[in-house]
Amino acid sequence: MSAGAASVILKNIAVPVSLAGPDLGGTLQGQCLYGDLHIVPDGSNRLIPCEPSPHAKLVIPHLTEAHCHLDKCHSINRLGPVGGDLPQAIEAQAKDRKNWTKTDLQTRITKGLREARASHCGAIRSHIDWGEDAQPPIAWHVLGELANDSDLTVQRSALMGIDKLADSDFCTQVALHIARSQGGVLGGFVLAHRNRVMGIDNVIKQAIHHGLPLDFHVDETLEDMDGLSLIADAILRLDYKGPVLCGHACNMTNLSGDPLARLIDKLLKAGISICALPTTNLYLQGRTGGTPDRRGITRLRELDTAGVPIVLASDNVADAFCPTGQHDPMAALHLGVLGAHLDPPFDRWLPSITNNARRAMGLDGIFVKTAKASELLISDATSIADLISGRDALTSLA
Ligand SMILES: [Zn+2]
Repeated sequence: MSAGAASVILKNIAVPVSLAGPDLGGTLQGQCLYGDLHIVPDGSNRLIPCEPSPHAKLVIPHLTEAHCHLDKCHSINRLGPVGGDLPQAIEAQAKDRKNWTKTDLQTRITKGLREARASHCGAIRSHIDWGEDAQPPIAWHVLGELANDSDLTVQRSALMGIDKLADSDFCTQVALHIARSQGGVLGGFVLAHRNRVMGIDNVIKQAIHHGLPLDFHVDETLEDMDGLSLIADAILRLDYKGPVLCGHACNMTNLSGDPLARLIDKLLKAGISICALPTTNLYLQGRTGGTPDRRGITRLRELDTAGVPIVLASDNVADAFCPTGQHDPMAALHLGVLGAHLDPPFDRWLPSITNNARRAMGLDGIFVKTAKASELLISDATSIADLISGRDALTSLA
């Protein structure tokens, strides 16, 4: 690498096509563009074509963590024996809430943010469990303060049962707090709540009023549910323009043929991005008391084929919902490859942890063509498969 006052030149580079951006240049072979990468301050980087080399280093933009739970992470060691389905995890985690002092949250959230940074994330969205009243919980403030000291773009998404938001006054107050918060996102979790239609409508109306992004945990079960369909209907009816990210949708795997096609068509029209969370889905879904025979991951392949933006993310890390895990989108993609049969060529799936994720969060995409050096990562990996496998580390360019 050679660096001058105004530019950086990296010799013998490969850039995955999906992350290159228009007119980067280079020599196309397979899934990558090859060349010497000139990074310039005015945002018009160029790849000067060269003969594709098996020893070229990969360059990509930094990663995006679109869905995690920093308020819960790293609590596993004090929970006692855990292991069960989603309701059991919710119950086990609720018992830990008494330990969520400001100091405890600062310690655990700092650890989670550090891990995300070490995994080369540039942006992160964490859900934060909302309390019983309309005031933001301590964790909301703690993450907000830590975000000020972080070089990550941090978003905070409110998480509570959608039936609570069916109370219009409550929803209005919560939305006001979120609108006043840096990086605030409105949302909730949607299962078979009795008042879910009203709750979804209220949330979307408030998001329109305040210009807020939306994020739902929806249909996190293999039982038949209608949450995702209701959200899409409401978005279309109320003319919300997004962005909206819906996580889980595990039970979409129950659908096939025309019913699946109709739901996917609705998602496309409503502009909904779908986030799969492979660690938590594999751990919590399909429990039979023995070895699981269902995977719990939504229909990523069908969604992607139809043009619905798909996202993969880390979700829970070392808590009742996932006793292992890591804040690492590349690891989430690796598990998604195995759990959802995301077959090669792998260039197709890289946006799920980069620009699909950013756009679903309401952020602009970052392409190598227009990225600053500080937004780029480099790896000795000689293929995208090696990169996803974690065989060769990523490092920051600046
Ligand atoms: Zn989650």
